[in-house]
Amino acid sequence: MVDLQTSIDKNIKEPSTISEKHREMMGRGQGVKVCIYGDRGSDSSNGEIRVQFWNKKERILRALKFAGICWGGAVVSVFFPVLHFVLVPGFLIAGPIVGIFMLKQESVVLGGEGVCPSCHAFLPIVRSSYKFPISELCTHCHCGIKIELADKMALS
Ligand SMILES: [Zn+2]
Repeated sequence: MVDLQTSIDKNIKEPSTISEKHREMMGRGQGVKVCIYGDRGSDSSNGEIRVQFWNKKERILRALKFAGICWGGAVVSVFFPVLHFVLVPGFLIAGPIVGIFMLKQESVVLGGEGVCPSCHAFLPIVRSSYKFPISELCTHCHCGIKIELADKMALS
């Protein structure tokens, strides 16, 4: 097991490895502890992902917002000659499709961070769907990485 905090502290001294955007993301959503496994059968390490969960009300609001954006696009498209034949129906149809997609989406992994179990370098985790295991690639040693929930019971 690699001590995550020590590794992160070590990396924070090199600000180029952690972007401002990443740091901002780490303050959003809900923190979930994960276990990181390397494909070379080495040790596992700990990490944290930030997960955004939407309840039913939030999902409905999001669906309406994105459908509204699409329909707004349809209204604006009316003013484009020729293109409006494609854009107006396109946006009108996209509205409910995007809306239904948003309604069904209950959560998303905004991103996260950990330590590569093989080379112990700082491992940023990119945005992905909330499905485990999450596959990542260490940018440092190029080893394949699998990310699992540290405590599967914690969320159920
Ligand atoms: Zn690595």
